[in-house]
Amino acid sequence: MLQKTLTWQQELADGFNNINEICEYLNITQSSKKLIVENSNFPLRVPRGFVDRMESNNINDPLLKQILPIKSENLDTPGFTFDPVGDIESIAETGIIHKYHGRVLIITTGSCAINCRYCFRRNFPYDDYQLSTKKHLRAINYIESHEDISEVILSGGDPLLLSDQKLMGFIRKLESIPHIKRIRIHSRIPIVLPSRITAELCDALSSIKKDLILVVHSNHANELNHQVKLACEHLKNANITLLNQSVLLKDINDSADQLCALHEKLFTFQIMPYYLHLLDKAVGTAHFEVSQADGIDLMNQIKTVLPGYLVPKLVREQAGAANKIIIA
Ligand code: SF4
Repeated sequence: MLQKTLTWQQELADGFNNINEICEYLNITQSSKKLIVENSNFPLRVPRGFVDRMESNNINDPLLKQILPIKSENLDTPGFTFDPVGDIESIAETGIIHKYHGRVLIITTGSCAINCRYCFRRNFPYDDYQLSTKKHLRAINYIESHEDISEVILSGGDPLLLSDQKLMGFIRKLESIPHIKRIRIHSRIPIVLPSRITAELCDALSSIKKDLILVVHSNHANELNHQVKLACEHLKNANITLLNQSVLLKDINDSADQLCALHEKLFTFQIMPYYLHLLDKAVGTAHFEVSQADGIDLMNQIKTVLPGYLVPKLVREQAGAANKIIIA
């Protein structure tokens, strides 16, 4: 019997939002389940296609660990805060974070296709600060009136969760502003829900008359399957520059072998390395932390293995700083 192909919206709706269902699907044993917390204020959300890349009966699978709500999230850890990178103090207008010279970041939506447990915005009050359709005009006015802004970053949440119509409507407005040279999209969707990268979306993006950069977010080589590769090919054919940022995560990608495998594979998907972030210290994420000293050590190791163009920059974001801090 022929299997019906789901649209990306159907795939999104068909994703998991209950940890017990994932455990059953992956044959996770009862003893391993003791670690899990069932009622978290950061809900579980993960596309089925991403769960299909996880190993069965392995609570330590590096993809599963990124979405698994565990009891350590409820520990109160000194130094971990609700707004670790100072987003709220940099809000210039509803939906606009203006932190760095020449660039603004737009909070296009509060939703993502996947909820990564280590997310630096897991406690962000999206209801108060995301850009609603009604407030588009104010955001555009802000960008128009600041001629020193040359780049706009569409972030969130995940901007590729917007419909083509909403996304392109906003991009077209940005495109018409003469001092905007580049439009950048930050999205984990090409990795976790590659069916979203439709021919229609790529056609629309290829018609944009400004430079377009898509920064994807992949942390582990096991995330990169054939569907992701096809999505990246479509994006490259639409003349989009593809970069990757990762987060350095304890027991997930904190070995030189894993980081080398990730960046070697990203290159075969036509994605160049950008940043490897030290964890932003958001409440609930302390169990993912890798120390700065260990991060530097890992960078020294991967530099001896990878060609320079495959080595990401190890960075830390510091609230109130004028730029990301490059560590190595
Ligand atoms: S996709 Fe990005 S913004 Fe969304 S939960 Fe994951 S890390 Fe956070």
